[in-house]
Formats: sequence, structure tokens, C-alpha cells
Amino acid sequence: MLALSANGLLPKADYAIFADTGWEPRAVYRHLDRLEREIATPAGIPILRVSSGNIRQDALDPAHRFASMPLYILNQDGKQGMTRRQCTGEYKIKPIKRQVRELLGYPYPQRVPKDIFVEQWVGISTDEFHRAKDADVRYMRNRHPLIDLGWSRTDCIRYLASLGLADTPKSSCLGFPFHGNAQWRHIRDTSPSEWADVVDFDAAIRQGNARANASGNRLLGEAFLHRSRVPLSEAPIDHVTAAERAALQIAADDADELENGVVDGCSPWACRGDADAPTQDDFGLAT
Ligand code: SF4
Repeated sequence: MLALSANGLLPKADYAIFADTGWEPRAVYRHLDRLEREIATPAGIPILRVSSGNIRQDALDPAHRFASMPLYILNQDGKQGMTRRQCTGEYKIKPIKRQVRELLGYPYPQRVPKDIFVEQWVGISTDEFHRAKDADVRYMRNRHPLIDLGWSRTDCIRYLASLGLADTPKSSCLGFPFHGNAQWRHIRDTSPSEWADVVDFDAAIRQGNARANASGNRLLGEAFLHRSRVPLSEAPIDHVTAAERAALQIAADDADELENGVVDGCSPWACRGDADAPTQDDFGLAT
């Protein structure tokens, strides 16, 4: 959408906002710098980088309240579960709202007048129109220009390729538990230091997040980054199962994208997370 706006195929955006969880792959930060240098700045579109902190550090900091990631849980009785996904709200939506209020001139806790709002573009393509949602506040009105244009993911990839941006990486935390095996393999096979980083993190959250443990809300089961619920260093990431494809709702003709690891990611207002996922309390938290 930034490129479409910069190139006049969409109206000129006033700003682009990147909500940084502090734990994106290095390729994403490099890509963002490139977009800013080659597309946004020449077009006069400022990229605002906003943040609520570093999700990796916060998860391991006993003094920090932690908005939980969607971790795979194995309970003591062998039952499987998941922790609730709260991190998108904390690390993506919250800092964007804070920035938008400032741009409007009504920082929290000021009340934003009824007739003051921004139009916010959310980049969902026609393949995933069901993810298009309204914002939950009156001062932001969501629009979905790619859907308005009738563009599918394939159209977007073709356009990016025409701009020399075929290698656009998917934005998500390095240790996002909803990575498919292809994404885990990609990290392992292309970036040993980032692989070591996620393997370390996976081991560090085995007993749940640090704050919960420090405050006596110990996880009675074990937490994992990989859906197999075994340590990431031993997880069967070389296997792409039919179930994995089905779970990710990837059509057969999108298989190449799965292999390239571009289908899993995190998007404010378009989160693929399971809103009905059980809470940590449902999976063996002592109180
Ligand atoms: S990428 Fe995953 S872990 Fe990171 S903020 Fe988004 S939902 Fe949470």
C-alpha cells in the first residue's frame, strides 16, 4: 500500500506507521529501512516507528507485566492447550493508537471529539477478506484499499516484484509460535544467530513467562514455541504435513508461498489469532 500510494495508484498517505515488537527478523528491519529510503521518503510519506517495548525481553523479565504470546502448552496430564494471544493488542494496536491520538492532537487521556478521526488503511488482500475488521475506536476508521482494488495476494506479489521488491519478508516476531515449519526452517537455514536466539527463547519459556512465575502463577505444564510441543531444537520442522497446510488454510496453489514462509505473520486489526483461545488459567496455572 505504501508503494501504491507513493506511485499514485492510491491517494497519498499522510503517514505510514510501523509497530515494532522489538523482535522482528533482521531482514524485516533491513526491508523497512529500504522502503523508507527508496519509496517513502522520496514520496514525502513519513514512516513513524512506534513501540510498546521489546516482547522478547518482557517475556523473560520477572518485573514486567507480560501480554502473553500464543504458546503451545502441554499439561501435566498430557492434555494440550494454548495460552491466549494478548501480544498483538499490547505491542501492535496500543502503540499505533497512541501515535494516532498524538497526530490528531488528542493524546490519551484526552477525549477525541466525535467528528475527528483518521482513515487507517489495513493491507488485507481479497484472499483474506474475512480478516477485514472495523477499528474499535471512533477516532480510527479502517479502510482496506487492496480489497477495494480487488487485489489478491498474487497481485500484490506481482506488483512488489515489478518494483524489485520480490524478496519482501513477512513481518512477525522471530519467535512467533504460529510460524509454519517452512518459516522455522528458513530461520534455521539462513540465519544461525537468529535460530540460536529462538531456540534459547523456547527453552527459557518452558515454565511460562517470567512475571507469572515470579508472582506465584506458575505454569503447571510446559510451554513451547513449536506446535509439536517438543523443544524447538528437536521439533520436526523438516516435515510439512497436510495438517499443517490445512491449519494454515493454504490453498494448493499457494504452496510456494508456504515454502517461502510468507504466509504466517502478525497484523494489527487483521490478526490470525484465535480470539477464543483458552487462557493460561485453563491450562494448569496454580493460583
Ligand atoms: S508476531 Fe505473534 S508473538 Fe509477535 S506480537 Fe504478533 S501475535 Fe504476538
